[in-house]
Amino acid sequence: MSEPAAPIWVGTSWKMTKTLAEARAFADVLAATSWDPTVQPFVIPPATAIAAVAERLAGSPVLVGAQDAHWEDAGAWTGEVSVPQVADAGARLLEIGHSERRAHFAETDERVNLKVRAALRHGVLPLVCVGEDARQREAGEQLATVTAQVRAALHGVPDDAAVLLAYEPVWAIGEGGTPATPDDVAPVVEAIAHEAGPRRAVLYGGSVSLDNAAALLEVPGIGGLFVGRAAWQVEGYLAIVETAVESARRR
Ligand code: PEP
Repeated sequence: MSEPAAPIWVGTSWKMTKTLAEARAFADVLAATSWDPTVQPFVIPPATAIAAVAERLAGSPVLVGAQDAHWEDAGAWTGEVSVPQVADAGARLLEIGHSERRAHFAETDERVNLKVRAALRHGVLPLVCVGEDARQREAGEQLATVTAQVRAALHGVPDDAAVLLAYEPVWAIGEGGTPATPDDVAPVVEAIAHEAGPRRAVLYGGSVSLDNAAALLEVPGIGGLFVGRAAWQVEGYLAIVETAVESARRR
């Protein structure tokens, strides 16, 4: 008997946006949505809204995540939150190593690895972001860069531990980012999957929109989409989810 197809992950991180009222309104729409099992949805609110969103999504298939957490469980780390704290608030997934954190908050490969291990210790699914910057892409160093990032992130992590990866080329992210093409993405997804192991989904993120989502989901081996701006309005998010459902039907 053949194994059932893995669901397509479609998630969004809200970064530093949304009041509690806005987060609740978004979550209320998700709670009232009927979900196709071919898609695994997730949302990553700011820390202030994790509990409110998780409460509204209790019993729904939408996973709630945190955008970051410290690697220690507790202690004198003013301003930080730990994995047990975000898990207590309802996070089941932890975003780690986003390029904005790597660029502005001293998120080294070593710290990424500590956070992956902390998440796994507490039964939280790590979502590790990797990706080369524009200079590295121009120099043709994208495969070496992401391979090294994945290897460092998974150092000492058992092969059977569930970990999600997201390929997020720095040059493709955010305002002013250049959307990557499927041809840009395909070899890097293959390299990440090779380094991470066959059972770990590799998502793509960086200027994903309704215009390019279907094409990106055609990339061989792609496990889903991690969306920023295009999914910050719930209608935008649900439209990309629908694109993923259609893509799953074609697979
Ligand atoms: C991101 O920053 O991870 C991201 C995917 O953002 P955007 O889709 O807005 O480029």
